[in-house]
Amino acid sequence: MSEHDFREETLDETKKAETGEVETTKHEDEYEKVCFVCRRPESIAGRMIDLPNHICVCNDCMQKSFDAMSNGQIDLSQLMNMPGVQIFNMTDMEQQVPKRQKLKKKKEGEEKKPLVDIKNLPAPHKIKASLDEYVVGQEHAKKAMSVAVYNHYKRVATDTMDDIEIEKSNMLMIGPTGSGKTYLVKTLARLLDVPLAITDATSLTEAGYIGDDIESVVSKLLAAADNDVEKAEQGIIFIDEIDKIAKKRNTNQRDVSGESVQQGMLKLLEGSEVEVPVGANSKNAMVPLTTVNTRNILFICGGAFPDLENIIKERLTKQSSIGFGADLKDKYDKDKTILSKVTTEDIRKFGMIPEFIGRMPIIFTLQGLNEEMLVKILKEPKNAILKQYQKLLALDEVKLDFTEGALSAIAKKAMKKDTGARALRAIIEEFMLDIMYEIPKDDSIGQVTITEEYIENRGGPIITLRGQEVRRIGNAG
Ligand code: ADP
Repeated sequence: MSEHDFREETLDETKKAETGEVETTKHEDEYEKVCFVCRRPESIAGRMIDLPNHICVCNDCMQKSFDAMSNGQIDLSQLMNMPGVQIFNMTDMEQQVPKRQKLKKKKEGEEKKPLVDIKNLPAPHKIKASLDEYVVGQEHAKKAMSVAVYNHYKRVATDTMDDIEIEKSNMLMIGPTGSGKTYLVKTLARLLDVPLAITDATSLTEAGYIGDDIESVVSKLLAAADNDVEKAEQGIIFIDEIDKIAKKRNTNQRDVSGESVQQGMLKLLEGSEVEVPVGANSKNAMVPLTTVNTRNILFICGGAFPDLENIIKERLTKQSSIGFGADLKDKYDKDKTILSKVTTEDIRKFGMIPEFIGRMPIIFTLQGLNEEMLVKILKEPKNAILKQYQKLLALDEVKLDFTEGALSAIAKKAMKKDTGARALRAIIEEFMLDIMYEIPKDDSIGQVTITEEYIENRGGPIITLRGQEVRRIGNAG
C-alpha cells in the first residue's frame, strides 16, 4: 500500500470509528459491490453509487429510476404528503445482498498468477509420498493421481496457447464405498493448497427441474475459494456418486437426472465460460451471476459403480470362451482384482455416454479394503483414529494402548459392515465411550490397554494404576 493510500485510509477509519463501521467496511472492501436493483456485480455493471445502509445501485438503474420519476408517472409530492407512506424505507433494505453472494474484488494492477507455482510444484513422487502419510494402500490410485495432478498444474502454470496444447487431466475414480476416494481428493487439495469443492451427483438435475443446476458445482467451488473467481478457476471439483447419473435403462420418460446431467456436464469438463450463480445452487432473479472459466479447473469424478464387476466378468468370459483357451465360466468369480481390468467400453455399457468418458482421460480403480489394510488405517496415517484417541487421553495423562488382537478384532467387525473404513470410527466410538466416561473419574489410573476380549464383549480392558499395579476391570459395557 502506498503512503498516500494509507493516509487516506486512516482518515477514513477515524471517521468511521465513531459509527462502529470500521470492522464491516474493512471486510466488505475485499468483495465486489452488487447493484441492489439489477443484481449485477461491479465488474459487469460498472461503478456503483453508494446509498446509506450499504446499498449500492449501478448507474443504469439509477438513471432508469430518475427517468421514471421525470416522466411524470409518479407524483412524488402527492405520495410524500400522505400519512404513513414512505417511498423508500432504507432500513428495510439493509444488507439485502448477503456476503456469500458477493464476489472478491480484483486488486488493481495485480497480475493473474497460477496458484501453484511451477518451480515449487512437487514432483509426482513427492506428491505420492505426501499422500502415503495419510492414505493406506491404494498404491496405483495414488500414483495415477500424483502424475495427473502434476501434469494438470504444469499445464495451468505454463498456460501455453501454442500448437501443442496439453489436454486436461480430469480423472474418474472407481472404487467401493469407504475405500478412500473422497479422502484422497481432500488430502490432495490440502497438500497443494488449492480450493476444493465436493459435490454429489445425485442432487444434480437438468436446469429447470427440481434439484441443483449443473453449474452449482462451480458455485460451490467459488464459495470454497472465498468468492474469488481467479482462485476458483484453478481449483479442484470432486463429484461423488457419479455412477448415479448413468443412463437410466428401460425408461420412456425424459431422463432429467441421468443422461441429461452427463450432457450438461460436458462443457464444464472440457473447459468453457459458464455463467454461475454466486452463493446459490440455481439461477434466479435474486441471485447475482458471474462468469467462471472452467478451463483450468480439475474435475475428479468418483463412484462405486455397483454391477460394473459383472459387466467386466461378462466381457472377459465372452472373450475367453471361444477357442482352445476357453476358461471355466466361474473363473473370474473369485477374482478380487477384477475391477482393475475395467475398460472404457465397460463404463459405457454401465450407462455413461461416450462423450463423457472421453473427457475423463485418466481412469483408475481403488481396491476394496481388507482386514490388514483396516488395521493399518487404524494406526498408521498421520491423523489415525487411534492417535486421535491417544492424544485425547494423554491430556488426562493417561496412556492408551491397543493389543494387536484388539486391532484385528476391530477390523474384523468393520469388515462385516461392508462400508469400508467408514465403519471403523463407529465401532471405536462405541467402546471408547465407556473408557472416556470412566477414566477421568479415577485419578490414579495411568494406562488403559484395550484387549481383544473387550472388543468382543468377553472381558474388560487392562487398567494400570500409576503405581504400576495392574488391574482388570469388568466389562464396562
Ligand atoms: P469413499 O471412497 O466412499 O469416498 P471416504 O474417502 O469418504 O470413502 O472414506 C471414509 C473415511 O475412511 C475417510 O475419512 C478416511 O478417514 C478413511 N479411509 C478410507 N480409506 C482410507 C485409506 N485408504 N487410508 C486411510 N484412511 C482411509
